[in-house]
Amino acid sequence: MYYCLSCKQTFTLSYKEAAPQLREAAKRAPRKRPKLKCIKCGKVEAVPAMKCVKCGAIITGPEEIPEPKSIFQGTGPFPDECKKCGYSQMREGILRGVRQRMKQGKLDMEKLPPMVRRAIEDAKAKGQWEEK
Ligand SMILES: [Zn+2]
Ligand SMILES: [Zn+2]
Repeated sequence: MYYCLSCKQTFTLSYKEAAPQLREAAKRAPRKRPKLKCIKCGKVEAVPAMKCVKCGAIITGPEEIPEPKSIFQGTGPFPDECKKCGYSQMREGILRGVRQRMKQGKLDMEKLPPMVRRAIEDAKAKGQWEEK
């Protein structure tokens, strides 16, 4: 799904339709969020987007694409975090994985990247974290 920053509409493109534009955008600015031509208004202002599974708000990624390696070293938010309700599927998935490893006694908190540790602290503060 794509969301146009100019006319605020969403639309979908098939992979085949989007690929040439995505390739071009990546060549122009490799670490920037790609902008595609909006099929509604014609401006090159459409960015990849998705709908929050919780509240349905449109989520667009960050303007600068972080290095895959450093993505969890920062302060967040998670790339798919909803600005409206704060939900992030990615964070939920990671926290599920952490809980599982914890149950198996395989978790080393010290080895978790900062962003994940903070997500755990947040969950604890909200009472959404069970140690057992
Ligand atoms: Zn548009
Ligand atoms: Zn939401």
